[in-house]
Amino acid sequence: METILFLSPTEAALSKNTLEALAAAKQLADSLGAPFFVGLWGDAPKAAADSIASCGAAKFFIVSGVEFAQARYATDAAAAEALCRAAGATIVIAPSGSRWNRISAGVAHRLAGRADSHVTGLTASEGSPAIARWYYRQRMEGILTRTQRPWLISVESGIAPAWQGVAGSAVVEDVACLPAGVRTTVTGIESLAADQQTIRPDADLLFVTGAGWTKKQPDGQVKVAEAEKLILGFLNLARASLGSTKSLVDLHGEGQATLTFLTHMNQVGQTGSTPRHAKGLSTCCHGEEPHTVGWRFIGERRAISLDPNCGWARGKADVLYVADAFAVMEKVNSLIAQKS
Ligand SMILES: Cc1cc2nc3c(=O)[nH]c(=O)nc-3n(C[C@H](O)[C@H](O)[C@H](O)COP(=O)(O)OP(=O)(O)OC[C@H]3O[C@@H](n4cnc5c(N)ncnc54)[C@H](O)[C@@H]3O)c2cc1C
Repeated sequence: METILFLSPTEAALSKNTLEALAAAKQLADSLGAPFFVGLWGDAPKAAADSIASCGAAKFFIVSGVEFAQARYATDAAAAEALCRAAGATIVIAPSGSRWNRISAGVAHRLAGRADSHVTGLTASEGSPAIARWYYRQRMEGILTRTQRPWLISVESGIAPAWQGVAGSAVVEDVACLPAGVRTTVTGIESLAADQQTIRPDADLLFVTGAGWTKKQPDGQVKVAEAEKLILGFLNLARASLGSTKSLVDLHGEGQATLTFLTHMNQVGQTGSTPRHAKGLSTCCHGEEPHTVGWRFIGERRAISLDPNCGWARGKADVLYVADAFAVMEKVNSLIAQKS
């Protein structure tokens, strides 16, 4: 049996976006026949609870205090975590917004749950909740379910009519919350050491990694650790900038073995960046159009792929090496090391 918690920070009156998410959460709870609770935090969340007193929640949990008025990671995350625990929620639905978006992944982690953002639909089928969200810049809609709980879901605005109802006096349960830090003070900016920074806009060469680095190799083995060593070794020797395909950076979010130093910031392509470098070397990448459109400002293009029929071979690279990138990069690294 699921337990649904509608969760939100409160500032002034609850926004339209918040009331839409509330309506969607209540509707999901009704479809699942699940207990429905509301969790609110802020300076004085009781007033917000009163404004939605007739929404059908079995209970209102609140974290209140002047320190929860401000948008700040430490206090927002601590309050949200405490509310989720107090409600024993398996599904947490929150309106998208900068305050929630900033903490949702962190709170999911603290609760050993999962978070999804940009959700545009909530449905229940055969007793199980499912979400809808769009991929590839609104080209494809996916319907997802998850087995992990609690499942934290941020819903986009406009997915349901805003909840409407009479205000009243909500019976609230105060939840104790002692955030570790009461105030964030910015004292300066720390940036990564130069050799940890893999995105180097001023580099002559863009070195691109593709999903092939993490795939089973012809000898039947997956060699992610070896791939990391070769790639970092090359980046440090050649002072190249690191780009990636979308397939490879996406693996990280799905919990699969991947290159630990990659983030979505490295992604090149239609839905990634379009860097400018004199030369580009692509490795273990298929060279599909949505990726290679990000190469429009790369001067000389070379690629290493096992597939002689890949996209690079079809006119997208000046030179294609049909070869094993592990072997090639090992040799290249040793040649550069000898020279330097
Ligand atoms: C709307 C839309 C937007 C998209 N936007 C982007 C985007 O911004 N950026 C992006 O990158 N993608 C984007 N994509 C995805 C893109 O279409 C491809 O799916 C993706 O680029 C494929 O990644 P890949 O080449 O790393 O993986 P794969 O297609 O899996 O290719 C892996 C390659 O590695 C080779 N290989 C494996 N082992 C070795 C080895 N030892 N040596 C050499 N080669 C090896 C294989 O032969 C294969 O060719 C988008 C797709 C859509 C639909």
